[in-house]
Amino acid sequence: MGKNGTDRDFPAFHLNRRQLLAAASASAVSLGFGVSEGVAQAPRAREGRYLFKNAVVLSFDPKIGDFDRADVLVEGTKIAAVQPNITAAATVIDARDTIVMPGFADTHHHFYQSALRNVLGNGLLVDYFRDIVEKATPLYRVEDAYDGVLAGALRSLSSGITHVTDLSQVSNTPEHSDAMIKAFRDSGIRAVHAYSRGYGAGAKYPGDVERIQKQHFPSNDGLVTLALGAAINKDQWLLARKHGLRIFTHVVGSVGAVAPGNVIKLGDEGLMGADNVYIHFTNATDEQMKKVKDTGGHISLAIPIEMVMRHGTPPLQQSLDHGIRPSLSSDVETTMAADAFTQMRAAFTLQRMQINERAVKGEKDLPALLTAKDVIAMATIEGARTNGVESRTGSLTPGKDADIVMLRTNMTNVMPLNNAYSAIVTGMDTSNVDTVMVSGKILKARGRFIGVNTAALQRRITASRDYIIEKAGWPKSVIDTSMPGH
Ligand SMILES: [Zn+2]
Repeated sequence: MGKNGTDRDFPAFHLNRRQLLAAASASAVSLGFGVSEGVAQAPRAREGRYLFKNAVVLSFDPKIGDFDRADVLVEGTKIAAVQPNITAAATVIDARDTIVMPGFADTHHHFYQSALRNVLGNGLLVDYFRDIVEKATPLYRVEDAYDGVLAGALRSLSSGITHVTDLSQVSNTPEHSDAMIKAFRDSGIRAVHAYSRGYGAGAKYPGDVERIQKQHFPSNDGLVTLALGAAINKDQWLLARKHGLRIFTHVVGSVGAVAPGNVIKLGDEGLMGADNVYIHFTNATDEQMKKVKDTGGHISLAIPIEMVMRHGTPPLQQSLDHGIRPSLSSDVETTMAADAFTQMRAAFTLQRMQINERAVKGEKDLPALLTAKDVIAMATIEGARTNGVESRTGSLTPGKDADIVMLRTNMTNVMPLNNAYSAIVTGMDTSNVDTVMVSGKILKARGRFIGVNTAALQRRITASRDYIIEKAGWPKSVIDTSMPGH
């Protein structure tokens, strides 16, 4: 953050920050639009108050409910009121022809990989371990980690995701960790930095967690918070708990070493708890899933990735059968888009396909089909629950932080609006994301980023890509490039 606490100060490892920030005169209430198309003026907040006026409002708070037409008042960093016909001295955001709802959450992603988007488009998990984990990741410099996280965080914000969890598996040195934390803070997104392993002689995982906590997270209640990305490993889990950190663990049924059975062994020692988040949890038995439920654990599903990369069938229905509402996550952009629409549509179609197939086969007394509303809840409030911050975000509830997305409905893909839930899950894409607010701060408005020079960002992430590809000895063509081995 800049001197006045509001300037978006991107530290440049190689580039002057002015090359990244289009508007040099950003201030507390007037942020410049800086996308490459030009510069525009953002709304001026009146005494830190914004009023979204005349929107379709989906609160995802059962006590508040939903409205065909209502207003949302934001005061400072918080949601102050959600109801029709609010009158307040505030900057009015004309929200006619939009849906105003909580921002989306992505509860598991590897942000550092932004420079490697789509390089493994047809790859399986085995290819990912060889090419991304073992080959590319050790090559990452500090600036590659920073640029990757920044580019990823801005992509998330642009697509309406206000809350993310980063499994930072490029903690090759403490400086890499510092850079990733800084990138999140610079982006303005709400993020959980789930400190994870790195590669090479300079890697200090997991011991560096103590320094990271002391240096960057003296309190763990800011916009960026700390957790531990841990293996299925007793010592790592105990370390996380010693520091009061949530534990995020990949559990993949198709990979023996990290299969669900090994988690249950830790559970048998009393180590599975409500602070555990299990990512994927594919190929589990019902007993194993029941153990997650009984111990209060959380499930994060990366459904498109699990389906295309051979993690095993996403245990969406199995989670639901055991009373667990999973959250959704995008995992890796080497192989799949990271926006919430992609995740929601995949969850919706997968679960309904599975139940419909059972119906076609003649089975009776089937589980309920997921509705579009169910799926949006997984992408919002369940994400907040997975990250343990449902008291702060995940719904439009007065008193919670103002993490809000405004989706445009007067566009050719969804007009005329007839069903808000279905329009979001089965009709919209990222082009409908008009305005994005995190903790009361507008980061995107009228479809455009505020204060970000995407052309400069492109130059940085491209240079990073060129460096990694060169060092890895990978093909330089951008047409259906195949990595070695497949
Ligand atoms: Zn992952």
